[in-house]
This record gives sequence, C-alpha cells and structure tokens, in this order.
Amino acid sequence: MSPASSARPGQIVVVGGGLAGLRTVEELRARGYAGGVTLVGAEARPPYDRPPLSKRLMAGELADTTLRDDLAALGVGLRLGETATGLDSGLLRTDRGEHGFDRLVLATGAEPVALPGPGRQRFLRTLDDALALRARLRPGLRLAIVGAGWIGAELATAAAARGCRVTVVEAAAAPLAAAVGAEVGAQTAGWYEAAGVELRLGQPVESVQPGGLALVGGGWLAADEVVTAVGVRPAVGWLEGSGIALDNGIAADEQLRASMPGVFAVGDAAAFWSLRYRRRLRFEHWDVALRAPVVAAANLMGGTDTYDPVPYFWSEQFGRMMQYAGFHGDAERMVLRGDPAAPRWGACWLASGRLVALLTVDSPRDLAQGRRLIEAAAAVDAGRLSDPGIPVRDAARG
Ligand code: FAD
Repeated sequence: MSPASSARPGQIVVVGGGLAGLRTVEELRARGYAGGVTLVGAEARPPYDRPPLSKRLMAGELADTTLRDDLAALGVGLRLGETATGLDSGLLRTDRGEHGFDRLVLATGAEPVALPGPGRQRFLRTLDDALALRARLRPGLRLAIVGAGWIGAELATAAAARGCRVTVVEAAAAPLAAAVGAEVGAQTAGWYEAAGVELRLGQPVESVQPGGLALVGGGWLAADEVVTAVGVRPAVGWLEGSGIALDNGIAADEQLRASMPGVFAVGDAAAFWSLRYRRRLRFEHWDVALRAPVVAAANLMGGTDTYDPVPYFWSEQFGRMMQYAGFHGDAERMVLRGDPAAPRWGACWLASGRLVALLTVDSPRDLAQGRRLIEAAAAVDAGRLSDPGIPVRDAARG
C-alpha cells in the first residue's frame, strides 16, 4: 500500500480500532458530522468486542465478536493493520506513512504486561490470542495461569470446563486483591477449588521457562501452556516525546481533551480528570470505552460536555455474575452485604457516610439500586446495607 496522506481541513483521525475508536466514529456520524474520518488500527481485523473473548468465545459458544459488519456505512477511511508510531508537526506518523488531521482521537487501549523469561507465554487480549489459546485447550492440558485477576479467573473457568488441569498462581494473598482488596477478593478463593482449579496464593513467579514456571523461592510448576494475566498498561509508548502529556495513560481533562489542542483521548488509554473523584483516573472497563466517545464526539464537534461517570464493570466467573459500580479508592470502610457463602452477596464501600462503591454477586438489582445511590451521593445506613433482606435503595437515610 502506498504511503497515506490525508491532510484535509475537517479531517478527523482516530487512532485505535477497538471499541472506543469505533464508538467515536459512530457517535460523530450519529451527530451529523459529515467530514472525513480515518480510523487507524494496528490490528488487521475490523473492530471487535473483547469481553466475550474470555467468556463465551473461550467456552466455544462464539467464533467471532466483530462489532459490526457494515463499517462501510459509516463512511470511514479504514487503515487496518497500520500502526501509529508518532506525532509531530501536526502529523500522525504510522508504519505506512502519515496522516494530517484537523482533530485527532487517541484510542489505543491497553496491552498486556509480560513476565521475564525465555519460555512461551500467551496473553488474552486480542481475538487472535483468544482463538489460538482456545485451540490449545484440551482435556488434560496442564495450563498455568499467572494472575488471579478478572481475566485469570474467567479463563480458569472456561479452561476447567474444557477439562484442562488448571493452576492459577497469584502473588497476592487473595484473588482480585488489586481490584477489590484482599478481604473481598478472598471470598472468591473457594470458587476455584469448587471448579477443580488449583489456586496458589502468595506465590510470585520469577520467570517463564520452557516447560513451566520458575517460582520465587525456588519452586517449579510444570505446564504445557502458560498464560500471563497480570494486568495491562496503556498503549501509549508511541506518544513518548510527542508533546502529548502522559500520566499513567494519556492525560486528558474532564472533557477528554489531551494536552494538545484538537486532540482527545478515550477508552483504556485515557487518564481523564474526574470531577466526581477530583483526580485523574484511568479505567479498563468496557462501559467507559462505550460511553466516553459520546462526550468526545460532542466536543470534537465544538461542544463542552464533561465525562463524569460512576464507573461500572462486570465479570463472569465460575458460573457467577460479578458487577461493580463506583470507585473505592477513598473508602473508609467496607461492609459485606449478606454471607459470601450464600449464592448471592455483595460488598459495599463507604466514605463520609455515603456509599462510594458496590460489588455484587448474582444480584443485578442491588447493583442497579446501589449505582443510583452512588450517583446521588446519598447518605446511607451501613447496617441496612449489610442486610440482604433490605433493598439497597432503602439504605438511604432521609
Ligand atoms: P482496545 O480494545 O484495547 O482497543 C485499542 C486498539 O488500538 C487495539 O486494537 C490496538 O491494537 C490498537 N492500537 C494500539 N496501539 C496502536 C497504535 N500505535 N496504532 C494503531 N492502533 C493501535 N471490561 C468489562 O467491563 N467487563 C468485562 O467483562 C471485560 N472482559 C474483558 C475480557 C478480555 C479478554 C479483555 C481483553 C478485556 C475485557 N474487558 C472487560 C475490558 C474491555 O474490553 C476494555 O476496557 C475495552 O476493550 C477497551 O476498549 P479500547 O477501545 O479503549 O481499547
């Protein structure tokens, strides 16, 4: 393909062909933007959905998660299989050429963190990763998963159901410790055993070697396949030195504007200023990639909308639906709602007498009601919240 050059007035270039990039294009068109849009995406595939990769696709119930098959209807210049390499003098540089732009949207998402060592490690981030991994899952396969976070737990669920001998190795004292704290995460440890998955907690991995994992302390875990699921980092290395301010992602304000005029950031790559939480926050949540582009598109077209969500995500693991709304970074206390040994329970985080975050297990109604209380910054009664017999909404004071 010849080098690209598309410097036209009114041209919007979107970098990153994931959910956030696609949604930005969709929202621009939905709002009547009739100018040129170019979507530059490193993956050769058209935009697809990631959450099913570790769930229905890994379970064999889905073969493809492409988000829409009528991309042409959006009138977008598709530059798939093209990687942005830098930004300078008002030009986006890629491995295939350069693109002039009037406004630019950065939606490059996140990429998995790797472990040291010469052994083969797989990841679960892309559709290609997922298809390759799924093809390996067979009864008796010794699968080592490093990391008992959301992805590790979901993959363990699918792999165990396919008859693999799964061991999950986690450095922290509990699953999900980084996401929801060890006290809440510990309530999920029994789910692994019940599914026939061996869970090794408090066990850091030193390196991935041919044939298995070298464990800190001298141990060895033999494995036919190793999947590293220890987290992701924002895919922003290509912006180093570009003049775009970075701060654990692309630093953006509450209108999703990056530090350079006409440049916006959305999705997993964006660390935006949260008015609600009075700090810069970056989320790796599908819901953020879905909704932030609504605000970005409005502002690309001259608006001054703010993006100020109560964050939300879910995880499906070991036959359960976990949902979380809010942000518990400033929480002063946590109360369990119900008994974690029961099929349905939750955890509520409070600060200054208000509900700031809520995790639920198989309790979507609690989640919905709690989300509204968080949005309203309502004062709540912790005792009532802890009682699963009382609807969450009735825990509001006054
Ligand atoms: P991405 O989806 O990462 O897309 C970014 C795209 O940009 C990628 O295609 C990448 O190749 C491309 N790119 C990167 N660098 C460049 C470059 N330099 N030039 C051009 N293109 C580039 N969230 C939930 O809330 N609930 C779930 O249950 C859930 N499950 C998940 C399961 C899996 C297996 C994974 C991987 C994620 C899951 N998520 C879940 C997270 C959710 O999918 C992400 O938050 C969402 O995909 C982020 O979208 P994005 O468009 O910002 O980034």
